[in-house]
Amino acid sequence: MKRLPIELPQQNKLVKLSSDLYWGRLPLPFRLNHINLFIIDTKDGWVIVDAGIYGEETKKYWKSLLSGLLSTKPIDKIIITHHHVDHIGFAAELADMTGAKCYISRAEMKHAQFIFNMSFSEFSDLLVSIYSKYGLPLEEIELGRNDSSRYKRYVPELPDFNNFSLEDTIQGTSSDWRCRIDSGHSSGQISFINERDKLFLPTDFLLPRISPNISADIRDIDKDVLGDYLEYLEDMTTLDPEIRIYPGHDWPFKNGNLRALDLIRHHNQRLEILLSNAQKKPLSVSDGIDLLFNKRFESHELFFAAGESRAHLNHLSKQNKVKKDTINRNGQEIDLFYV
Ligand SMILES: [Zn+2]
Repeated sequence: MKRLPIELPQQNKLVKLSSDLYWGRLPLPFRLNHINLFIIDTKDGWVIVDAGIYGEETKKYWKSLLSGLLSTKPIDKIIITHHHVDHIGFAAELADMTGAKCYISRAEMKHAQFIFNMSFSEFSDLLVSIYSKYGLPLEEIELGRNDSSRYKRYVPELPDFNNFSLEDTIQGTSSDWRCRIDSGHSSGQISFINERDKLFLPTDFLLPRISPNISADIRDIDKDVLGDYLEYLEDMTTLDPEIRIYPGHDWPFKNGNLRALDLIRHHNQRLEILLSNAQKKPLSVSDGIDLLFNKRFESHELFFAAGESRAHLNHLSKQNKVKKDTINRNGQEIDLFYV
């Protein structure tokens, strides 16, 4: 995708994108080293879209914004697009700092609460049982045991959430921002479209360079989340090519319809690789990691790679292209997918 010639927000500064939309960028302690957040100017005050990850850097960032441009009006709402740590982590503290109410979709709230309400040992037991079903080798299952604190390290507290639903529109000072709620990369992500100004904030579902991670849902590892995401992408292929897209990571672009086609092709290729190999021998999720990535991963990357492999196998299964059986291998119950 071609990057639109718009300057990136400098540290603690916002870039004005339209008469009522501002763009900020927060650092992240990961390989993906930043998140984009957006602020909509409304007659009731500022609406903040996403809070960033929990941490001192994020706190400094918000303090600086709240004493600068954002001090000119009250903060009307904080909207959290989805439950991933880089979007939700600082929400509770930002609500305390601003006195604003936090909003999220019902599906994302349930997902966040499911992970947050588990103790460290409950979470690691769940991960170990999932990794075991995935047929991962014992040393990788152990990585799951030690990965139990990742969510709470970056999300130490959840705010009191209010429900944000499809009927809720944000009325900017000069235009309306219509809400979408989609499932795929997460379970009910909020995004905003401004038809009049041809602007779209798809958060993590449509990125210019990265294929958003599509992972099996740890609450129900059989669920066809890739099917949901492919439906979303199909819908995006009808997007007006002129709509300017401001994503949750990376830089702004146009031709979102073509990007959606790229991503559909990418997932279809992955499905084809798994299907042709399942015709030769039954595949575990672990086999799928080898086939899709051709390498093994450490803890949190392993979580995403395994989840991605399972999501693709689930989709083949939903399409009745493969069957699933559980076998017992040396006491380990393993799901296998075969033709
Ligand atoms: Zn995300």
